[in-house]
Amino acid sequence: MTDTPSLLQMTAPLREDFDIPYHDIGPKNAPARVALVAGIHGNELNGVFVLSRLAAFLNATACGEQPGVELRERVIVIPAVNVLGLNTLSRRWPFDGTDINRMFPGYNAGETTQRIAHAVLEVTRPASYRVDLHSSNLEFEELPQIRLYAPTEAERLTARCFGMPAIIERPMNSVFTSTIGHAWRESGGQNFVIQAGQAGVLQPQHCERVFAALVRLLQHVEALVGAPLSTDDADVHYFGVDQTAPLISAHAGIFVSRLEVGRWVRSGEVIGQVYDSFNGELRIEIRSPVSGLLSGLRRQPLLCEGDLIARIETRQPVPSGVDTYLHGQGQ
Ligand SMILES: [Zn+2]
Repeated sequence: MTDTPSLLQMTAPLREDFDIPYHDIGPKNAPARVALVAGIHGNELNGVFVLSRLAAFLNATACGEQPGVELRERVIVIPAVNVLGLNTLSRRWPFDGTDINRMFPGYNAGETTQRIAHAVLEVTRPASYRVDLHSSNLEFEELPQIRLYAPTEAERLTARCFGMPAIIERPMNSVFTSTIGHAWRESGGQNFVIQAGQAGVLQPQHCERVFAALVRLLQHVEALVGAPLSTDDADVHYFGVDQTAPLISAHAGIFVSRLEVGRWVRSGEVIGQVYDSFNGELRIEIRSPVSGLLSGLRRQPLLCEGDLIARIETRQPVPSGVDTYLHGQGQ
């Protein structure tokens, strides 16, 4: 038996009771320096895997099993908030279909997901730095990136220390105000969202990038000392609120792309093709309207008119169109 703490113990109608375990690692004589949360959505596997592996590394470090590496500050790690959704690959909480990231700040005498949100907030609120990890939805792949919502100058500076390929700044989301990000903001400190990859699958390369980014953060805030840092991920690009060009489909059909997220595309470069699903005819070649970094790409081939095909982050400001960041892309 271990002494793994739990956020909540709950009972289920037709199965054994269950709980939401988390890791509380490092010296306990002070509030946590960093709190890391993943799996608020149960089908976003990249973040769950990264945090479970990071917890293993930090626990080994705390036990002195990583020569030369030292954990000097307390770190909270919650690999999977939606523990039941993880079992069924479900974004939402299986029993009542609620989205836990629409339940914050929660309520400790409320419905199950209100109680979960409350418990997550209670255990993460004392931390000085907080990170919420997501993947996109089942249809769209995101380049690993830091998302900043109406950030402070301190958050802008810290964001660069993750060493992620893109930092994307957004206005505060006024539609979804019951997210963990909103609740954290009320609590002060520095708050970050990481978006990486696609829901429903595990993408080891994205996971490695996010793992390295979190180790960099832990070293930057001096929670961790002496961990080896990879040198190939220092190429950070910062994109403001008016530097995103979404590509929205004007056609329906089978969408095919051979591109990978994270490449730089030129204006007019082919992003993919749309084929007729019956006679196989090429309906249209989708071309990038701008030059920039391909930060997101559609992976679901069944395409309808109005679907998001790609996002390209530009070096220069571009006219702002529809805000595709509000389309429920994993957050
Ligand atoms: Zn999510």
